[in-house]
Amino acid sequence: MSSEITRLNTVDLYDAHVLNNYGRAPLTLVRGRGARVWDDEGKSFLDFTSGIAVSVLGHCHPKWVQAVQRQAGELIHTSNLFRNPLQGELARRLVARAGPGRLFFCNSGAEANDGLLKLARLHGIRKSGGVEGKCFKVIGAENAFHGRTFGGMSATPQEKIQQGFRPLLDGFSFGKLNDLQSFADLIDEDTAAIFLETVQGEGGINPATPEFLRGLRALCTKHNLLLMLDEVQCGIGRTGAFFAFEHADVRPDAIGMAKGLGGGFPIGAIWISETSAELFQPGSHGSTFGGTPLACAAALAVLDVMEQEDLLARVQQLTPAWHEQLKALVAEFPQHVVGLKGLGYLVGLQMAGDALGWVGKLRAAGMLAPPAGGNVVRLLPPLNATAEELTESVEIFRRVLAAG
Ligand SMILES: *Cc1c(COP(=O)(O)O)cnc(C)c1O
Repeated sequence: MSSEITRLNTVDLYDAHVLNNYGRAPLTLVRGRGARVWDDEGKSFLDFTSGIAVSVLGHCHPKWVQAVQRQAGELIHTSNLFRNPLQGELARRLVARAGPGRLFFCNSGAEANDGLLKLARLHGIRKSGGVEGKCFKVIGAENAFHGRTFGGMSATPQEKIQQGFRPLLDGFSFGKLNDLQSFADLIDEDTAAIFLETVQGEGGINPATPEFLRGLRALCTKHNLLLMLDEVQCGIGRTGAFFAFEHADVRPDAIGMAKGLGGGFPIGAIWISETSAELFQPGSHGSTFGGTPLACAAALAVLDVMEQEDLLARVQQLTPAWHEQLKALVAEFPQHVVGLKGLGYLVGLQMAGDALGWVGKLRAAGMLAPPAGGNVVRLLPPLNATAEELTESVEIFRRVLAAG
């Protein structure tokens, strides 16, 4: 089959049969290796989209491929009516990272966050002495993004996401990120939890400051609220720590994870601290596909490679020089670039105008990078990107900015 025929067919097939719910780039990708992907015409791109912070080991890391291939020939799916050894081992490995507690496995970020919102409901019942439907309010952050389910949308105060789908879930209010008083002011006796991304991703790469997170921790402890952190995008090493909240030295009551966890295989998870894990009893929650042997094998391969290749240390080591290079772009092109935001390999260049035009120019120049809210171009390299690839991203960006 010639690549020309493949391309035409894919475009036609999408036009005819795939739901028209995405603003897609005019690009069909067919192959990936490391930090590079190829389209159906043989053109290669530096891939700093990483499937939206998913492909933490880059594409087709040999150890990940081997682990998935081996497990695919052994046992793929059993449901959660039975134990499988890989889910137990993955839970153990994540508890070692998150602290004493328990794991629930699901398939996506929104599903993880819906689990957290259900946890908040159960905590509210505990808090109000067994009364259902009274203490159920959740305080989130302005500009948040928590996913596209009804739970996720309800926690996402953005018109472009909520519009068309109301009425949403009740009981959400939103404080200003990094303004502790604005959160404190929203707490009342019916509040069950505070829920936010440790670093906002879709909303424009906005980190919660360590002081703010410590302040939220104290507020939650004082008012018997759960502190629930959405680490779906910022977790699994992306900021140079396994979880982004480690930078603030706080411990949440619950954590949502997904994107990077499977290195490209769909898997989500929630971790719940020991004192709240008991709120879920048999029958209270579930997921048919959650934590299959195959998904867990993929996630275990991610954790293994992160350790064997010391990827957290590598991100910490390469971050300062890369950020310096990116900041130079701000100095060189002040008419186009306003600033650099973010931590580690979760960064955004804040542009003077709409980001989407720049994303298209970068693509034409050979780099894939996704936009984020507030005129931000995101750069999400795989955690094992080389120093040369990081520099290449800056060079491509410089060429594009110089051309205007
Ligand atoms: C992507 C994302 C989600 C939603 O994850 P899906 O897997 O798309 O459901 C939720 N929260 C954050 C912070 C995300 O970045």
